[in-house]
Amino acid sequence: MRLELLFLLAAAPLAAQQSAEWKSHDMSRPRPVVVTPGAPSLPLTPPSDAVVLFDGSSLDGWSDRSGAPTKWVVRDGAIESVAGAGFLYSRQAFGDMQLHIEWATPLPADGQGQDRGNSGVFLMGLYEVQVLDSYQNDTYPDGQAGAVYGQHPPLVNVSRPPGQWQSYDIVFRRPRFDSAGRVTAPARLTVFQNGVLIQDDVTLRGPTTWLERAPYARHPDRLPLALQDHGHPVRYRNIWVRELREAEEPGPAPGSEPPVIALPAGQLDRYPGRFRSEGGLEIVVARSGDTLTASIDEGDPLELLPNSPSSFSLRWTAGTLRFDLPAAAGSPASGVTFTLGGVDYICSRM
Ligand code: MG
Repeated sequence: MRLELLFLLAAAPLAAQQSAEWKSHDMSRPRPVVVTPGAPSLPLTPPSDAVVLFDGSSLDGWSDRSGAPTKWVVRDGAIESVAGAGFLYSRQAFGDMQLHIEWATPLPADGQGQDRGNSGVFLMGLYEVQVLDSYQNDTYPDGQAGAVYGQHPPLVNVSRPPGQWQSYDIVFRRPRFDSAGRVTAPARLTVFQNGVLIQDDVTLRGPTTWLERAPYARHPDRLPLALQDHGHPVRYRNIWVRELREAEEPGPAPGSEPPVIALPAGQLDRYPGRFRSEGGLEIVVARSGDTLTASIDEGDPLELLPNSPSSFSLRWTAGTLRFDLPAAAGSPASGVTFTLGGVDYICSRM
C-alpha cells in the first residue's frame, strides 16, 4: 500500500468526527453576520384568533411572580421594566404558541455587553429568547439578542438601534413528558426578528440557566409567559399569542369511508372509454387486469376503487366517479359524473 494512502486512512476517522459542542458563552465563537432589517412596519396588528396580552393600555393580564400586581409601569403605550420589580408574568398560561412581541432597548444606550438593554422573553417562564441591545454591542453570541440564551446564537444579527421598536415572532413547541417525567420531545423554537429568520426550529437542551446546565424537569403543559427584569428599562408593546393545536388533527372516523367491493370480472369491460363534460373536462377510463383507472384531463392514471357497481372512489383524493349504466346486462356505461370539491362534472361517452 502506498504511504500516502496509509496516511489518508489513518486520518479518516478524525476527519469524520463531528466538531465538539461549544460551551455556553464562548467569546471565540463566530459572531452572527450583521443584517440590516427592512423598513419597519410595526406595530403588527393581531389576527382575529389572537389572545391579546398587552394592547398598550393595561397590565391587567400580568402580575409579579406571586400573582400580585407588578411594579412594571405602562408609559406611552408600552410596558417598561423596572429594576428590582422582578419578572413580569402573564396571568394566562400557554403551551404551544405563536407569539408576537415588540420591544425596544433604552436610548441612549448605556453599558456594554450583557449590561446593555438586557431583558428576555421567557416561554413558559423557563425558556429564554434573549432581549438585548445588540446593535454595535459585542457579547458572547449565545447571549446576544435573539439567542436562545446559553444555547443557540441567532442565525444573523438583525438588531435595530437602541430606542427603535423591534419585533419577535416566535413559534414555540413546549417539551413533552411521559407519565414518569421523562422527556419524550424537547422544546423547539423558531424565531423571526424584524421579519428575518434567526432561529430555525432549534431544539432546546433544557431550561435557561446561568453558568450551568440543568436538565428538563417535568412541568405543567401550560405555564405563564414571562418577561425578564434584568435591571434595564426595556420596553414592550403589542404582545399577542395564538395558541397552537398541540396534537395532529384527527382523521376521519374508522369505517366512515364506503367499503370497497370486488366487481365480477365480467363487469369490468363496461367502464373503459373516453368521456367528456360540456365544459371540456376529459376522462379516460382504462382497464388493466382487474384494475380500473381514470386519467382526468390527461393526468396520470388514477386507480378507481369500486364502492358499488356504479360508484367508484379515488385512493388518495376525496373524489368519486359515478357511471351511468344502462339496464341491459353488460352494456357499456353511457356517461360518468366526476365529483370533486363539491362540483359535479357530468361527462358523456364520446
Ligand atoms: Mg436576558
